[in-house]
Amino acid sequence: MSKTTLFILPVLFLVCLSCTKQMNDPIETKIDALISKMTLKEKIGQMNQLTGMGLHLDMRNQIKAANVGSILNETNPKIINELQKIAVTQTRLGIPLVFARDVIHGFKTIFPIPLGQSCSWNPEIVEDAARIAAVEATSTGIRWTFAPMIDITRDPRWGRIAESCGEDPYLTSVMGVAMVKGFQSNKLSNATSMAACTKHFVGYGATEAGKDYNATIIPETQMRDIFLPSFKAAVDAGVATTMCAFNDVNGVPASGNVYLNRTLLRTEWKFDGVMVSDWNSIAQMKVQGVCASMEDAAKLASDAAVDMDMMGMAYIDSLETCVKSGRISEKQIDESVRNVLRLKFRLGLFDNPYVKIEPKLPFYSETAIAKAKQIAIESAVLLKNNNQILPISEKIKSVAVIGPMSDAPADQLGTWVMDGEPAHSITPLMAIRKEYGSKLKIFAEQGLTYSRDINPAGIAKAMTIARKADVILYFAGEEAILSGEAHCRADISLPGAQSELLNQLRKLGKPIVTIFMAGRPLTIEKELDQSDAVIYAFHGGTMAGSALADLIFGKAVPSGKLTVTFPRMVGQIPVYYSHRNSGRPGHNIVLMNDIKIGAEQTSLGNTSYHLDAGDKPLFPFGFGMSYTTFSYSPVKLSKNKISDNEIITAECTITNTGKVTGMEVAQLYICDPIATLAQPVRELKGFQKIVLNPGQSKTVKFNLNIKQLGFWHQDNTYKAEPGEFRVWISADSQTGGYKSFNFTD
Ligand code: BGC
Repeated sequence: MSKTTLFILPVLFLVCLSCTKQMNDPIETKIDALISKMTLKEKIGQMNQLTGMGLHLDMRNQIKAANVGSILNETNPKIINELQKIAVTQTRLGIPLVFARDVIHGFKTIFPIPLGQSCSWNPEIVEDAARIAAVEATSTGIRWTFAPMIDITRDPRWGRIAESCGEDPYLTSVMGVAMVKGFQSNKLSNATSMAACTKHFVGYGATEAGKDYNATIIPETQMRDIFLPSFKAAVDAGVATTMCAFNDVNGVPASGNVYLNRTLLRTEWKFDGVMVSDWNSIAQMKVQGVCASMEDAAKLASDAAVDMDMMGMAYIDSLETCVKSGRISEKQIDESVRNVLRLKFRLGLFDNPYVKIEPKLPFYSETAIAKAKQIAIESAVLLKNNNQILPISEKIKSVAVIGPMSDAPADQLGTWVMDGEPAHSITPLMAIRKEYGSKLKIFAEQGLTYSRDINPAGIAKAMTIARKADVILYFAGEEAILSGEAHCRADISLPGAQSELLNQLRKLGKPIVTIFMAGRPLTIEKELDQSDAVIYAFHGGTMAGSALADLIFGKAVPSGKLTVTFPRMVGQIPVYYSHRNSGRPGHNIVLMNDIKIGAEQTSLGNTSYHLDAGDKPLFPFGFGMSYTTFSYSPVKLSKNKISDNEIITAECTITNTGKVTGMEVAQLYICDPIATLAQPVRELKGFQKIVLNPGQSKTVKFNLNIKQLGFWHQDNTYKAEPGEFRVWISADSQTGGYKSFNFTD
């Protein structure tokens, strides 16, 4: 038998196997039967998604005319059932609608923003949060959420960093899969399951200048190594839908990207779910400059396997013409309709199209609230704690609660909160008063009433109460409106007069604990210097205040670690831990104020750094402190060389060397120091969050195989290259020592 036959036979076998699988799937048979009855117009109707919220006043007529496949943003269960009834009983084929909503970090009970959640390094609680969000949202009839957002981003100017899980592909993959599982549960047809939607496919987080919707330039190897893995992991975990991005990738808009959406996602990865466009992103390809008419835009998106047009009208207005004129085959339309119908069958909507309206909706349950608090606790990152000022000692008799975020029920919820109600928020001030009001004297004055406030009168008021207290608790940050979609900032310092207020407070010479509540990393070097302790809590959701009070007063111990690098200055961006080395890594750093007057051009040693910022960020990826301390033993490897199918085990013993029980996130990093394409100085490959009592030690073990060591090459193959590999198990992406092993081909 020839070599080619030997290769082709197993491939044919696999193809036949998957065909037989599809042929035997009762859902596929039902889809075939339904599609065979559908007119072209009815098919195109399934590919159209309209918004509720009164924007489409003639919605009922559109549904009756079979012009709608899905509706987003309708959350009143009675209206949902009424609209569904029209689709099911007043259209020729009675195909149900699927109702969608952005349930991003909670529906009613709001959990920390995804960036915050990722800092918990705890996929179990992240999955629980998504499950709770699904239970709450499905009770109103929503069966499709546009989450998780698993874009990788290394740019805190971009407002949507808040919705992301940060800068790392591996961590984002783990968190994304956890969210998909939570939303979808083990069976999509369960009444409390929602189809998840990974977004935005793909490369959106590389948006130039951190400005929303902007162009991206992403080399193919980077696309595959950095931006695609989280999406691939979600497809492998069974995500039901995905959304294409607004941006272009190297000039080709994601909504019309045949290579990424069809060749890669559909053919290579075998994704059989729905790809929905982003809001009007099909029609916007005209503005992006790749097509002249709506018809061209519709054709481009359909060619690129985009199944559903979200609020763009491109499909409903133009696809019929495209098919009739022969520009698109009806077979191509059938493929998309098949995906849409498959989703509806999988959700069980043909059997159970209506939502059962319970007299009491399952919002803000005790379990949900407790979980929201737990995640808010685990998401907060302790960045500084001089003289162990935290937790606040029992000897402290009074605290001053100051700052615009100390009592901001709406702002602490963060961006993308469409249904959660600020009235349910527990703010830091509320929690501190309730929990500790009987134990110590609490003075409270926000000073600045919102984060951009510059009113000097407010500062004066805050100073008056600060003078009376033993310790100052300063809640600073950003209002929710300053992050999220289309809310990007070129200057990411603390807004308004917040810095000035801290400056004044510092002059009182009292201990200051600053708690940041924000949608992104802010440049806080100055504020860090002026504070004795710093907790970075992001926007922590409904229970943020309660979680923070427990952390501040020691009922809870911080365990969060950063999932995004914090720059010292905005000009350092992009700054991320897994960068490649330059040929001249920064050393012998002389900052600009130390340069001698008249120094010669080459006097600084010609290494890679900024004259004003040096070569280090303010805080590295993976960093976070506790109220206890941990020591790491040197890494041990199970062997010093491995070949192709072997596994190597790395282990390390971690000891709690402090006085309280704490949780530590042990992080596994690798580096391939010599490769044909220069590789990152470190890459995260695993992590474990462990609990340790004082004095207790635990050994963490990680298995590594060759698949985890490879990278994408310029010829589009993924492989590991023989040679040395370095392994760290460390507390963050900068510290610790490595051990090497060899991969022999
Ligand atoms: C956003 C998506 C979102 C959609 C629907 C768009 O503007 O980019 O992430 O899911 O709107 O609300």
